[in-house]
Amino acid sequence: MRAISLIAAGVILVGPAVAQPMPVFDAHIHYSDSAWGEVPVPAAIALLDRAGVRMALISSTPDAGNLRLIEAAPKRFVAILRPYRERGDMGTWHGDAGIVDYLKARLRPGVHRGIGEFHLSGEQARSGVVRQVLALAKANGLFVQAHADEAALLHLLDAEPGLRVLWAHAGFAEPGAVKAALAKSPNLWIELAHRADVADGGRLKPAWLAVIEAYPDRFLLGSDTYVVSRWQSLPDIWRETRAWLDKLPKPLAEGLAWRNAAKFLGLDEAVFTRP
Ligand SMILES: [Zn+2]
Repeated sequence: MRAISLIAAGVILVGPAVAQPMPVFDAHIHYSDSAWGEVPVPAAIALLDRAGVRMALISSTPDAGNLRLIEAAPKRFVAILRPYRERGDMGTWHGDAGIVDYLKARLRPGVHRGIGEFHLSGEQARSGVVRQVLALAKANGLFVQAHADEAALLHLLDAEPGLRVLWAHAGFAEPGAVKAALAKSPNLWIELAHRADVADGGRLKPAWLAVIEAYPDRFLLGSDTYVVSRWQSLPDIWRETRAWLDKLPKPLAEGLAWRNAAKFLGLDEAVFTRP
């Protein structure tokens, strides 16, 4: 009887594998102070688990939000430093010389891998403060994550040759503009956080597929947890993204899901390839 039981148990353990969702890297997570009360760190990590997010790029206002996550799970997060001491800096930072001093004082080598996510539009990107921030990034071997319109992005790409720019939300631009920007600069990467509009009926739109196929190693995915409700819906956001991601050829899908992020950030690919 005992042997039969063991065999039966063994069948259950090694039975047909349940298809696991493709592991993903989330390139747009905020853990800002507005989330700390309703989504404590263990809950945030549980939501990432449920969404199948193995690692994430985090930028939080204030930076203490980044440190809370890293303290709990140091290998799970890549942190970047926002030029925002508090939420109110979002609209004024590009003209505030105090921001440069803040970044210089706050930047921790080995902790912060980039500067961002920051917001810029049009000629704001040509301000002296922005130029100093970009120079600081370049001097420290950091990339920047920019939520910028097309005009601001082009200024960013010109300002510091060689500086790597991750264009948040693909600038909410059309696929043609994204393709033109990619053609212009080899230092540009794109992330598609909060861009449910790239898909229609659970399929990537043909115009987006064409750009991604032209530059398959330059696209990352993300969610953007800028409000508590987007933390709470993180598994749903990723379920919707996977609906179109899973229909792509596997090499293309894996590139978007995690391989491009691993290359961009120099991560150990084993994090994503292990079961
Ligand atoms: Zn954001």
